Amino acid sequence: MTAAPDCLFCKIVAGDIPAEVVHTTERTVAFRDINPQAPLHVLVVPRDHEPNAAASAGADATMFAEIATTARAVATGEGYDDYRLVFNTGAGVGQTVFHTHCHVLAGRPMTWPPG
Ligand code: 5GP
Ligand code: ZN
Repeated sequence: MTAAPDCLFCKIVAGDIPAEVVHTTERTVAFRDINPQAPLHVLVVPRDHEPNAAASAGADATMFAEIATTARAVATGEGYDDYRLVFNTGAGVGQTVFHTHCHVLAGRPMTWPPG
């Protein structure tokens, strides 16, 4: 597994910083967002460090299938068939933590286009 020094989500994956982990797979960890924007707000992250979804796609695109499967397990496991998946990719669209993560959001009405 590759980890980056001083990466918050690498530390959560390693268990060095606490988080409410709701699901794990061989290559992913899912935990609740510390500042939830919906009744369900979970982050699914690959265990391996990449700075964003673009880099993960370049490194191993099969990772996205596992992230999507994990997201489905989390959402349906909490009773949500409808949910939104978001990968903020780059500071210009709001990415603040530079370890690939998929937001899993559900449980309230959502508008489109997103803000
Ligand atoms: P981004 O803005 O990069 O797409 O999303 C980063 C997310 O990480 C934000 O929704 C933020 O609330 C969440 N976050 C930041 N720090 C922590 C933390 O220490 N623990 C958890 N569980 N989530 C965090
Ligand atoms: Zn990391």
